[in-house]
Amino acid sequence: MNKSLPIALRPNEPMSRHTSWRVGGPAQYYAEPTTPDEAMVLAAWAMTHRLPLIWVGRGTNLLVRDEGFAGVIASYRGQRWALHEHGETAELWVEAGTSMAGTARRLAAMGWAGLEWAEGLPGAIGGAIVGNAGCYGGDTASVLIDAELLLNGSERVVWPVTELGYAYRESILKRRGADGVPPLVLAGRFRLHRADPNVLMARIGAIAAERKRKTPAGSSCGSVFKNPPGDSAGRLIEAAGLKGTRVGDAEISPIHANYIVNRGQARAADILTLIELARTTVAERFGVTLQLEVRVI
Ligand SMILES: Cc1cc2nc3c(=O)[nH]c(=O)nc-3n(C[C@H](O)[C@H](O)[C@H](O)COP(=O)(O)OP(=O)(O)OC[C@H]3O[C@@H](n4cnc5c(N)ncnc54)[C@H](O)[C@@H]3O)c2cc1C
Repeated sequence: MNKSLPIALRPNEPMSRHTSWRVGGPAQYYAEPTTPDEAMVLAAWAMTHRLPLIWVGRGTNLLVRDEGFAGVIASYRGQRWALHEHGETAELWVEAGTSMAGTARRLAAMGWAGLEWAEGLPGAIGGAIVGNAGCYGGDTASVLIDAELLLNGSERVVWPVTELGYAYRESILKRRGADGVPPLVLAGRFRLHRADPNVLMARIGAIAAERKRKTPAGSSCGSVFKNPPGDSAGRLIEAAGLKGTRVGDAEISPIHANYIVNRGQARAADILTLIELARTTVAERFGVTLQLEVRVI
């Protein structure tokens, strides 16, 4: 614990411990604030020490380079939630550090519909709000009412969903914050409606089975690239003949070509080499420039 801070700062923390790819060099400082006050104190500390700051969630859509990050990486861990019921509808207020899939499952068991598409979606609410995570016919933007944000490390605001600039796997939050302290998602409010818990749990079960069948085993970040309009990145990478291509311990999955799997001791550099290979080969063969879904730090 840094003496001047009421929050533990871990120096030289390997980010391989905090990413689902299990790769990534050290963050100069790593922290897990659990309240807005802790996040504000941390942001002020980073600004005082002129250190760049990055807010992350559970690292399931992140690639941290092997050389690490000269600054502060902070994963917001607040997990409080409150359900406000109005007869057949309800609003869920939930803090950004809460598991997205866990929330979906809990609500379904209680007979509240709206988030069941998120069954098995790795990561936390904050990451889903930033990246407009989606799957199985649903996405975050469709059920979000508003998001509670911390701007510039000190200003608490609530932005309605219409101001978040949502598109496919995109939001204004993903694009903001190149300079200064980026926006932190503290919480989100979601719209729900009443439904039969048995029906909802059956849908959850079906999605879980489908995910299990389609998801390659091993450490990954899910889809590496966004799907280009009218096509799928996996189809293009497969058609380019790259399924199963390996660099070190990183492999373009033979099951799903838009997944790169860490087969054990992969380095971020191996994954980046495969990303570049997929991008250049698909561009040469099909004239399509693939855009990254995953964030590279
Ligand atoms: C096996 C597997 C399957 C997946 N399947 C899907 C899928 O079907 N659909 C899909 O959309 N995604 C999928 N993903 C990707 C990932 O689960 C989602 O993108 C998820 O929403 C990321 O959440 P996270 O908490 O891990 O965020 P992180 O990976 O930690 O961060 C993602 C981005 O959000 C920012 N961020 C995170 N939290 C905050 C916060 N509180 N405030 C401000 N910025 C923040 C980060 O800076 C980064 O830019 C999959 C991943 C894996 C490993």
